[in-house]
Amino acid sequence: MKKELSTTEIADLHQTYVMPTYAPKTALVKGLGAWVWDAEGQRYLDFCSGIAVTNIGHSHPRLVKAIQEQAEQLLHVSNLFYNPVQPQLAAALATCSGLPGAKCFFCNSGAEANEGIIKLARLWGSDQGRHEIITFKQSFHGRTLATLTATGQDKVKHGFGPLPEGFVYADYNDLDSVRKLMGPQTVAVMVEALQGEGGVIPSDPEFLPALRALCDEAGILLLCDEVQAGVGRTGMWFGFQQYGVQPDAFSLAKGLGGGFPIGGIVAGERLADTFQPGHHATTFGGTPLGSAAALAVIETIQDEGLLEHTTEMGKRFMDGLAHLAMKYPVWIEGVRGLGLMNGLVLKVPAARLQEAVFEQGLLSIATAQRVLRMLPPMVVSAEEVDLALSWIDAACKEVHDEMVALVEAT
Ligand SMILES: *Cc1c(COP(=O)(O)O)cnc(C)c1O
Repeated sequence: MKKELSTTEIADLHQTYVMPTYAPKTALVKGLGAWVWDAEGQRYLDFCSGIAVTNIGHSHPRLVKAIQEQAEQLLHVSNLFYNPVQPQLAAALATCSGLPGAKCFFCNSGAEANEGIIKLARLWGSDQGRHEIITFKQSFHGRTLATLTATGQDKVKHGFGPLPEGFVYADYNDLDSVRKLMGPQTVAVMVEALQGEGGVIPSDPEFLPALRALCDEAGILLLCDEVQAGVGRTGMWFGFQQYGVQPDAFSLAKGLGGGFPIGGIVAGERLADTFQPGHHATTFGGTPLGSAAALAVIETIQDEGLLEHTTEMGKRFMDGLAHLAMKYPVWIEGVRGLGLMNGLVLKVPAARLQEAVFEQGLLSIATAQRVLRMLPPMVVSAEEVDLALSWIDAACKEVHDEMVALVEAT
């Protein structure tokens, strides 16, 4: 039976029995909307959203109800059988994607979705002898062997060789660097419309359209990794829609199930029927339970107008952050992001500021060393955004002298 434990007890137990792949400090035991509570009852405003996962907030009644009702009806049957929920989810995603003739494949995580999209591209290119995929520096695509190889960051690769072949890395927002890597071996370019782990870096307005044109010219695929930016986080269903571009396929996970683990691939007509029986599979893909959760997330975003709300709250938050950047120009460089995917870019490491905003009661993520990444839930209210801004301001005030000294020392 599950027991009620203190943070210290949880941490001790964790350190004894769970591999130290992460280094958490706080034990969270409850969530509601934009708020979470730790084991001692302390409340935090959650601008981490489980890393862009709990996009419709914690314990949204519609999501809870969908999971409860589906759990009582049917949890899992495998893909040896149809289930009634999976195709409804696929239809909803196909519609949201705007890709003509779109079809979906479901899996369980972002890495698995990207692993699948890599296989899909390779299979498509195999007739023409094309296999190589161009990805980008600072990108993040997951932790399986193929996806960590696709990831344009050396730190995730050390110690895991030999790595699979067939990946090369271009500079983000630099079309020439992509062109230079293209050849008869190239099958696809894989890109995040907005780099997340890499430091909340949006692509330039002209970059994605130019990339699409370049891929068309070469007769190769454009793949988008929408694992973090997808399912509404930028204020549109998918990040590429911000740029008026249609990829040949894209991957999803994180926010798709609102906290229930589900990932997927959405492919346009060029790739929709490339996978045939025997090519790719996963036992848990598109279970009735996972599909019901994801369908509830999509319907909630639709029915509550959360795309428009995300755009509005994102603007409010970014304006506030820009104001702070002007207030502390010596050590804050500026603000980046789209919708509710936001980064406060510092000139010094972000860990100290993250700690200080945590002390105020705000959860955030330090990423790419110098970026304080914030991913508020799409249901965040104007009052909560303002509260967060006031806490970040207070934290900035507190660390100001330290940060100035750091800047002067470098
Ligand atoms: C988080 C992330 C992944 C990996 O997803 P997991 O579910 O952790 O495997 C892949 N791509 C992007 C852009 C991500 O942000």
